[in-house]
Amino acid sequence: MALLEVEKIDAGYGHIVALHGISLQVDAGEIVTLIGPNGAGKTTLLRVISGLLPARSGRVYFDGRDITSQPAEALVGIGLSHVPEHRQIFGALSVWDNLMLGAFTRRRSGKHELQRDLDFVFDLFPRLAERRPQLAGTLSGGEQQMLAIGRALMARPRLLLLDEPSLGLAPLLVRELFRVIGELRDRGVTILLVEQNARAALRVADRGYVLETGMIVLSGVARALHANPQVQQSYLGRVKREA
Ligand code: ATP
Repeated sequence: MALLEVEKIDAGYGHIVALHGISLQVDAGEIVTLIGPNGAGKTTLLRVISGLLPARSGRVYFDGRDITSQPAEALVGIGLSHVPEHRQIFGALSVWDNLMLGAFTRRRSGKHELQRDLDFVFDLFPRLAERRPQLAGTLSGGEQQMLAIGRALMARPRLLLLDEPSLGLAPLLVRELFRVIGELRDRGVTILLVEQNARAALRVADRGYVLETGMIVLSGVARALHANPQVQQSYLGRVKREA
C-alpha cells in the first residue's frame, strides 16, 4: 500500500481551475519528484495534500487513512510535514527556538526523544548546530532553508513535502541540499519533492511526475524520465538535434 495516495484531485482558486483529476502515489521509502513549468499547479497540489487548500473533488489518503481537506495541524501530528516555498521560519526567533516550535506538535515521552531529534537535525545540518543562538532572520538563504527543513523534521514526519527547496540557493548549497535530501530517504523519511531544478531532482529521486497546466502528462522512474527526449527538451535544457 502506498504511503500517500492522491486520487483524481480537482482544485483551484475562484474560477481558476489549477488541478484537473490529479492522481499519484508515493510509496514508503521513496523520493518522488514533481516537475513542471511555472504555474503548472505543483504548489497547489502540495497545498491540497497538506490541507492548506480544500480539494473540489477527489481524495487524498495517507497510510490508508482518508485525510482529504483535513487541517494541516492535524496532519503534522500523524506524520505529514510540509516545507512551503518561502520557508516561513520565524526571523525574530533563534535557530533553537524555531526548532523547538517544530517539536511542539509532537507528543513525546521525554527529554531523551527531543534530544534524539535535535541530534538528528544537527547531524544532517552541522551549520545549524553552530548557529543555535543566532536569530533566524540573520541566517543566509541556504541556512534558512536548512532550518525550515530541520524544523519540519523535529515533528518526525514519515512524509515530507518539499516545495522548491533549492530556490535562490548558490550552486554549492544546492548540491549540499540534494545530498541531504538523499540522506533523509536513506534514514527512512519519504519525500515528495517539487523542484524547478529538474536535473538535480531527477538525479536524487526514485520516480517522478511531470505536471503541465494542472495535469500529469508523464510519469515513471526517474532515470527513464531523465532520458526522455520530451523531458530533456523542456526541462533539462537540451536541444534536440535534427537527424
Ligand atoms: P511555480 O513554480 O511558479 O510556483 P506551480 O507549478 O507551483 O508554479 P501553482 O502556484 O500551483 O503553480 O499555480 C497553479 C495555478 O493557480 C496558476 O495558474 C496560478 O496563477 C494559480 N494560483 C496559484 N495561487 C493562486 C491564488 N492564491 N489565487 C489565485 N490563483 C492562484
